[in-house]
Amino acid sequence: MAEEKKIPYKIYLDESEIPTHWYSVRADMKTKPEPLLNPGALEPMGYEDLRPVFCDELIKQELDNENRYVPIPEEIQGFYKMYRPSPLMRAYRLEEKLQTPAKIYYKFEGNNTSGSHKLNSAIAQAYYAKKQGLKGVTTETGAGQWGTALSMACAYFGLDCKVYMVKVSYEQKPFRREVMRTYGATVTPSPSMETEVGRKMNKEFPGTTGSLGCAISEAVEAEMTNPGYRYVLGSVLNQVLMHQSVIGVETKTALDKYGIKADIIIGCAGGGSNLGGLISPFMGEKLRGEADYRIIAVEPASCPSFTRGKFAYDFCDTGKVCPLAKMYTLGSGFIPSANHAGGLRYHGMSPVLSRLYHDGYMEAVSVEQTAVFEAAEMFARVEGILPAPESSHAIRVAVDEALKCKETGEEKTIVFGLTGTGYFDMVAYEQFNNKTMTDYIPTDADLQKGFDGIPKFPGNPDE
Ligand SMILES: *Cc1c(COP(=O)(O)O)cnc(C)c1O
Repeated sequence: MAEEKKIPYKIYLDESEIPTHWYSVRADMKTKPEPLLNPGALEPMGYEDLRPVFCDELIKQELDNENRYVPIPEEIQGFYKMYRPSPLMRAYRLEEKLQTPAKIYYKFEGNNTSGSHKLNSAIAQAYYAKKQGLKGVTTETGAGQWGTALSMACAYFGLDCKVYMVKVSYEQKPFRREVMRTYGATVTPSPSMETEVGRKMNKEFPGTTGSLGCAISEAVEAEMTNPGYRYVLGSVLNQVLMHQSVIGVETKTALDKYGIKADIIIGCAGGGSNLGGLISPFMGEKLRGEADYRIIAVEPASCPSFTRGKFAYDFCDTGKVCPLAKMYTLGSGFIPSANHAGGLRYHGMSPVLSRLYHDGYMEAVSVEQTAVFEAAEMFARVEGILPAPESSHAIRVAVDEALKCKETGEEKTIVFGLTGTGYFDMVAYEQFNNKTMTDYIPTDADLQKGFDGIPKFPGNPDE
């Protein structure tokens, strides 16, 4: 116990300890994630096939399953220095509140203006777009965190940034939109009347408030029709997961400094980028047989891709203009019920994490949103940070695991990812405080409608 107290509340690293390389967990996977497929011919998509959509260097990263360490360019390292290393916190006060013998740590990624981990990949993607001499990039944003991060990154490199924002968020979160405009981005509510996909959606579903899958289709179409632009995505893709490995590499450096060995690593999973980034170096050890960890993905019960989805090749977007990805999916037509964790409402999941989950290297649980907000509020009161609803999914399960330790008396070390802050989510907190928040869990019949939209060909879905 005396030993324990030496561990500070905040484990800060030095500027010199910011990672100089991204770590790609794919290099250590025996079974690699499946390649993207052309939706027409069902052929794997190579470098040339993807060039009309993505930046050249990012395609190379996307397709590279072999290189373990990829150098982070100087300019990106320079940007990281403005807000990294992020602190690894010991949750002494949460432990005390729970009266648990467990030791709880969290890696806090909310200490930058975008308020989330998304900036780690946004800056990398903007850098490669600039280096290629492009005019700008297009993207979608749901809750707004990705759009904000990308706006900041584009402002830094002087790139134009066109954001298609899911209409319901555009209307409910005017301040999010204004932050993006302050950084120079153009923000269009989706579905819009600017693209063919958008006009079609508006005609077919009058009054629709949009979805992430639809905003992706619009952003891809906008990129295709604007010369000098490419499309960028804030999660799901292999490259994004690799950029986010800075979270995990820093976490591991901080733990190693104090000789701490994690037993359980927990993160929320929307498209899987923060979780993938956090667990990467630990998963690498697990894959190489050097260490073992319990790794838990947490998703909302309203959008349960891992726990109730199919492992299948599916469309990444509603308009079906994007390549097919092999992943755990609820079907590209699945529209989750109004859950406040906007960042966790995607129908699919990272192909890397999907593969690892399928092969039994990690677990997944789903949680209901009122239970998530209970944990969020408890956390805010004892640890001081106002957590994002997405991040609070990880808090919920970290608390549950710590409470199990209280039952068994085990002194497990739990590490979770606190991906961001919730200042733009006060409508959700308001509903929770007013006790008007509901927990809608889709029925099997609801899910079946989404599954019906998964493309059918031999071997698909996998199960
Ligand atoms: C986007 C977001 C998530 C979920 O995205 P992943 O790609 O699964 O990490 C989680 N937390 C916050 C704060 C986000 O903005």
